[in-house]
Amino acid sequence: MQSTKKLLSIVDLKKYFPVSGSPRLGHKKKFIRANNGITLDIYRGETLGLVGESGCGKSTFGRTLLQLYEQSAGSTLYYGKTLAEIAPVYVEKALQNAPKILKSCQKKLPYTNGLELAHAKADLENLFRLLGGFGALEDCRVGASLLLQKHRTAVAIAKAESASNSASAATVSHSEKLTTLHTLLQEQETRLQELKKQCANVAHFTECEACLDGGIDLCRLTSSEMRRLRGDLQIVFQDPYSSLDPRMTVGQIIEEGVATHRLFPKGSPQMREYLLDVMQKCGLQAHMLHRYPHQFSGGQRQRVSIARALAVKPQFVVCDECVSALDVSIQAQIINLLLELKEKEGLTYLFISHDLSVVRFLCDRVGVMYLGNLVEIGSTKDVYKDPRHPYTVTLLSLIPSTDPNVQKRDRIIPKGNPPSPIDPPIGCPFHTRCYMAQEVCRHRMPPLMEVSLGHSVACHFPAPKQ
Ligand code: SF4
Repeated sequence: MQSTKKLLSIVDLKKYFPVSGSPRLGHKKKFIRANNGITLDIYRGETLGLVGESGCGKSTFGRTLLQLYEQSAGSTLYYGKTLAEIAPVYVEKALQNAPKILKSCQKKLPYTNGLELAHAKADLENLFRLLGGFGALEDCRVGASLLLQKHRTAVAIAKAESASNSASAATVSHSEKLTTLHTLLQEQETRLQELKKQCANVAHFTECEACLDGGIDLCRLTSSEMRRLRGDLQIVFQDPYSSLDPRMTVGQIIEEGVATHRLFPKGSPQMREYLLDVMQKCGLQAHMLHRYPHQFSGGQRQRVSIARALAVKPQFVVCDECVSALDVSIQAQIINLLLELKEKEGLTYLFISHDLSVVRFLCDRVGVMYLGNLVEIGSTKDVYKDPRHPYTVTLLSLIPSTDPNVQKRDRIIPKGNPPSPIDPPIGCPFHTRCYMAQEVCRHRMPPLMEVSLGHSVACHFPAPKQ
């Protein structure tokens, strides 16, 4: 059953790739807008499908989400670990400099526009996530300093707890230290609550307090902080031929990540036992441990890729077209394996595919992308039974069927080719090909709006509910 607990919250994610055009030579700098402001939540234990035609930005979204590509703008909040466990530098910096950041943004906001305004707004949003209601005060120094102290205590507790998990460090003095830290944290929490009560009547305090968010913003982590989260966030690539190192045996390929994340010492008997266990879960036999990737079939290689991702005990896996390169019988095996592993390990998947039938079978929710934008998202049942965006209607009408009546009836062929992501159309990005386009669509971009519970569409004229 799908949980309602968020694992990831993506807010206005943008990924632009610069292309030719040097400002020094007087050329206007151009960008491929691969992802143009995507906002969505991914819940624990769900499989979210992402569909759309080739080049619409699905794979870029999956990779940017994992910070394999640097995000151009927006936030990617991760809830699988706490801020105290990772202790990001950005939290310390933001809370230390909160009064300065607030002042500079408040000065800028009324006078700037365009990019500077967007940056100032983003800075404020990022700060309010940490500062909460204290962001509404004239002078937020006391609140920010209390929050910083509490954060530092929580970090110390997380460090002490992780150290005490190793048997050698679990001494009496350690547990005493932990008790003292917990008492200190409680005292700080009480002082914080008292201060909040005193400020509760300040204008906008409640709105700012509602912005408080404990998610880890992946795009603001340093590379070493991100590396500590890599074990939680994994990816299985489309091509099982090029994504495995041909010079390494299967054992070495799977062992590399496990040793890097220090789950077991390299070359130890426990490591060997663990590798065999992971391989067995993924349908690979023990004698394959010393084989090289070229000695396997396509389906077996994809199993090796899945075993490599699962060996580091992830919480979230991006499956980037991971069955597209396989023939149909192997596809079925891999899909069943993914479902089985999800049940056993409690995984969350982002399943990127252009195969609508596979997505329908595998996913709990589905998002539809067009030209770098998310145009529709909802439960798989709702989107397939009752598509509301003209692009989704078009896509679904083109699913091949063996029923002769379906083949002849209701097939909608979109006009022309998709526009260039370097120079996307103004207004609705689909208006150049939409069979329902009207004048307003050429000028105004439709926002993603909820049309029924859990079903959102970015269209000025969503198709009526059937
Ligand atoms: S906003 Fe207009 S052009 Fe865009 S999908 Fe809806 S009807 Fe078509």
